[in-house]
Amino acid sequence: MSALLEVDGLETFYGASQALFGMSLRVAAGEMVTLLGRNGMGKTTTVNSIVGLLAPRRGSVRLAGVEIAGRSADRIGRAGVGLVPEGRQIFPNLTVRENLLAWAANRSGAAEPWTLERVYAFLPRLAERQAQMGGQLSGGEQQMLAIGRALMTNPRLVILDEATEGLAPLARAEIWRCLTALKSSGLALLVIDKYVRALIGIADRHYIVERGRVRWEGSSAALQAQPELWQRYLGV
Ligand code: ATP
Repeated sequence: MSALLEVDGLETFYGASQALFGMSLRVAAGEMVTLLGRNGMGKTTTVNSIVGLLAPRRGSVRLAGVEIAGRSADRIGRAGVGLVPEGRQIFPNLTVRENLLAWAANRSGAAEPWTLERVYAFLPRLAERQAQMGGQLSGGEQQMLAIGRALMTNPRLVILDEATEGLAPLARAEIWRCLTALKSSGLALLVIDKYVRALIGIADRHYIVERGRVRWEGSSAALQAQPELWQRYLGV
């Protein structure tokens, strides 16, 4: 069976400057996969090339076997890719409820789609804060809102760029719990974050990215067993 997301040989440029040199990765249905690597190595460029915010010059992105590379971000979203972007990018002047409803859609045609009620049950803090403006939330709450907003599109795959960046340890732990629960629910996840130890505990497989290409890929057990990789590629 083919993977849900298949990325092959992506080459993406910023003007004349090449940022991706043949990025390739896979995410199977129900799998949680991470992209690891130091700053500036091409993780965000990879994500943005997958979701249509950047147009790759070469290479292929297939979702459930359908080529989506070069499509608009809107069409890729409708095809079933939900993004929790770096910096969260929630609407500060809309309420929590309005943020959640802004992009709601049952795109996957799921039998039990994510609705406002289901998101509130899954993330009760959002229910408590539903009438507050997005800009009034704490960082951790804003990240939950960004996750809830992605779920409201009923995606087949959710991509989180810098899942816990700037969050305090307790808020980080809540995001890890939330991702663990989403994985258990069968959702496919592609996660960028720097907390390798936490990610090893919940993800299935990992890709280490260096200068726009994959340098290593393997299971959580394999990454756990090779701390020299962390030192060499991640500086931890
Ligand atoms: P970070 O965690 O810092 O975001 P990253 O691994 O996500 O790092 P990218 O942001 O994808 O890395 O950057 C990859 C390369 O592309 C870097 O060399 C960066 O300088 C370059 N780059 C990123 N954005 C732009 C841009 N808007 N214009 C020109 N070059 C860029």
